[in-house]
Amino acid sequence: MLDQYKRQIEYMRISVTDRCNLRCRYCMPETGIEWLPHEDILTYEEILQLMRISIQFGFKSFRITGGEPLVRKGIIDFIRQAVQLPGVEDLMVTTNGLMLPDMAFDLKAAGVNRINISLDSLEQLRYEEITRGGQVERVIQGIFRSIEAGLSPVKVNCVVVRSFNLDELPRFVELAKRYPIHVRFIELMPIGISSDRRQDFVPIKEMKEILGLKELDASTCVKGSGPAQAFIPDGFIGSVGFISALSRHFCHSCNRVRLTADGKLRACLHSKHEVDLRSAMRSGLPDAEIAGLFASAVWNKPAQHHMNDQVWQDRRIMSQIGG
Ligand code: SAM
Ligand code: SF4
Repeated sequence: MLDQYKRQIEYMRISVTDRCNLRCRYCMPETGIEWLPHEDILTYEEILQLMRISIQFGFKSFRITGGEPLVRKGIIDFIRQAVQLPGVEDLMVTTNGLMLPDMAFDLKAAGVNRINISLDSLEQLRYEEITRGGQVERVIQGIFRSIEAGLSPVKVNCVVVRSFNLDELPRFVELAKRYPIHVRFIELMPIGISSDRRQDFVPIKEMKEILGLKELDASTCVKGSGPAQAFIPDGFIGSVGFISALSRHFCHSCNRVRLTADGKLRACLHSKHEVDLRSAMRSGLPDAEIAGLFASAVWNKPAQHHMNDQVWQDRRIMSQIGG
């Protein structure tokens, strides 16, 4: 469906849980957060109902995220059902990868085609430090297990944080050179606990300079990479891309909305405005009225975010909104 700015909105990111088995320093406070009580989290049946409603409006792509989506019990069965909904063309998962060594083949069999794996360091000590306890070896195994399972493309998303991993960029590029891995470098966003991490922000321009990729030939540019600007340099098996939410935002072509684990529809990641679809469903409103609420939330999607304004701050952290 079109929003009031004539953007075609057809992609929903669905957070199935606010829980996570890591505590990444730029995403979650050390003490964790107060988890949503179980009864506040949408049931799988409720999520499927909202997917059906969105499909009526022409939505066709869905990404399952969290928190860490693979920790939610029953996730594989849910994905199997979601993929089978008539109208679903693409179902993707974003994960920290820790559970992929055991789950990659099941995800593929359930119908997932693409997977994004978040990984900010290839060194165990540093990874452990950034994630407060994660085992990088598991994630690397998970990446290769995903390739073996036939998930394609396998993307590795690396949030570049000045004080964490600026020196590791070339090692990530090496992965894309040698394997069918699509590395995406992402600018840190001032969300939740990262709202005051401005000093850690690294603009894409600087990342490219470090990598000597300034002069990339436009012919190596991968078309249809969504918000990423992606390239396949000569001799590479995978690709290298950059996602710049701040220094060159892509709001004019944004096609997505987000459904939080507690059933709020957020038309923009960076707007505090949410529509409470869970309460609407649980109060017994007929589907047609819920569809009306859904449609008006999409119609009212803000023109653009205001993250570059210093005053911006959100009460929800990234794992609660669904990254
Ligand atoms: N737990 C899963 C994972 O880590 O992939 C899915 C949820 S996580 C919130 C989704 C993505 O958001 C991750 O790639 C993470 O690195 C990213 N993220 C979290 N906080 C961020 C921030 N402040 N700026 C940019 N990306 C962020
Ligand atoms: Fe968990 Fe993902 Fe947030 Fe890390 S980025 S704490 S893995 S939700």
